Amino acid sequence: MNDFFNKFGNYIYLNGEMLKPDKAKTSVMSHALHYATGVFEGVRAYKTKDGQVIIFRLEDHAIRLINSAKLYNINFDLSVNEVKQIIIDTVKANEFEECYIRPLIFLSEGFNTISITDKIKVNFMVACWPLNGNDSDMKVSFSSYARLHSSQVPMQAKAISNYMNSILIRTEAKNNGYDDSIALDINGYVSELSTSNIFIVKDGVVITPDLSSSILNGLTRISVIKILKDEGYTVVERKVARDEIAIADEIFVTGTACEIKRIVQVDNFIYQKDDVANLLKNKFRKIVTAEDENYLEWLEYVV
Ligand code: PMP
Repeated sequence: MNDFFNKFGNYIYLNGEMLKPDKAKTSVMSHALHYATGVFEGVRAYKTKDGQVIIFRLEDHAIRLINSAKLYNINFDLSVNEVKQIIIDTVKANEFEECYIRPLIFLSEGFNTISITDKIKVNFMVACWPLNGNDSDMKVSFSSYARLHSSQVPMQAKAISNYMNSILIRTEAKNNGYDDSIALDINGYVSELSTSNIFIVKDGVVITPDLSSSILNGLTRISVIKILKDEGYTVVERKVARDEIAIADEIFVTGTACEIKRIVQVDNFIYQKDDVANLLKNKFRKIVTAEDENYLEWLEYVV
């Protein structure tokens, strides 16, 4: 196996089988390759303080995956529990202690036209790979690309087609020397970054774009809202005007891969404060390592 496949460990799950990573394949005539028919998840496994492996919010990821398929009329017939078990089995088979996990439902052979019919094969794969977190702060810009809108595609679905928009947002940012960009929705309100949700802090109140702002309802976002409320913060989900970014006291983003990251610069605006982001980073670490007993229900043990 070459280096690319080596990183995926011993096995990738595909349609009921654990296959060597370079043997998990699909046809060039897969519907997903031609028409971007796929929905996926990004999930994460962590090692707890006493050396066990947990998957963070596995049930919620499985539910979001199944809902994403439903939103696209993809006839995916595994239950939440079956999806969870396959993900656990894949992590176990690879013997990773900490890893990123990628479940993906995609359509392959059997298509005649673009419409989704029962004749098209529905596939399910799960891969995982080691992920080293980095705690670097972010410098971002405003994107020249608007985020997609629910009148065009269901934004609550984590669909692979949405990531063409994310890729344009991220690539433009990188080409201009930034880590990422804040995308506005088509009405000019703050939406999200290429692969993360945004929060601002103003006068001690935490504000984040609401679900009608073309965002994915991130599971880290949902977790952070709960943690902050438990800590006594007021958290408001509402439309956020672009102007509010300039005058925010603190800005941070949330996502499975980035966890909680501070934004220290948006175009020429600089942010010095880090109180809320630091509190969250500390809390989050304690939660995923099972040191904080209040959030154990979010942890699924890989046993
Ligand atoms: N928005 C987008 C567009 C994303 O790709 C992600 C990453 N899944 C998020 C937000 C954050 O979601 P989560 O916290 O569930 O990873």
